[in-house]
Amino acid sequence: MQQKHILVVEDELAIRDMLRFSLERADFRVSEAEDAQQARLAIADDRPDLILLDWMLPGASGAEYARELRRDELTTGIPVIMVTARVEEEDRVRGLNLGADDYITKPFSSAELVARVRAVLRRYQPGGESETIEMEGLTLDAASQRVSAGEKPVKLGPTEFRLLRFFMSNPERVYSREQMLDRVWGQNVYVEERTVDVHIRRLRKALAPHGFDAFIQTVRGSGYRFSNKPG
Ligand code: CA
Repeated sequence: MQQKHILVVEDELAIRDMLRFSLERADFRVSEAEDAQQARLAIADDRPDLILLDWMLPGASGAEYARELRRDELTTGIPVIMVTARVEEEDRVRGLNLGADDYITKPFSSAELVARVRAVLRRYQPGGESETIEMEGLTLDAASQRVSAGEKPVKLGPTEFRLLRFFMSNPERVYSREQMLDRVWGQNVYVEERTVDVHIRRLRKALAPHGFDAFIQTVRGSGYRFSNKPG
């Protein structure tokens, strides 16, 4: 398989070196940029499969640059993981709807970094997501588009199915309504945020007879999370 190419956009040399070391050891090909300007040139020169973008950059901030990457037709299809230094920044990344696919908060282990990068790349690969996902007896089969609770089939509409697939592929993470619209409905679809709530209600209703509605948790002020742990 061809090596995946990761562009690291980070102004601090020590952190860039650390990221490169971790990623190369996991068999990724790495290129580097110190700021948004260098990143634009790097992307034009050699398009990456994923961008690891630092929140704190000189010049155009990581946040501004993330927006630019999403707006630009040439780069909108490249997944972005934001690297933040603090939990408050992580909250802002979530809240701002920058279009980042994931975020990772320093300090993180090399194993965590590689796991996040692989997970995001997998989502972008056609058919790359695992075909059958299971959690405590709730099973979703992507190929046949069937969901079952134990032995019993669960009937879902197409949107609820996509929503559940998204949740089950990304457990234990909080997503804002805007992020969910981007990821489940698609980036160029203009629907209101409350549409998300409507489909969440339908999904919960379909799962409730089997007791799995509790997995879809409302996180006040933030959005929703899929989890088998108590909310
Ligand atoms: Ca930085």
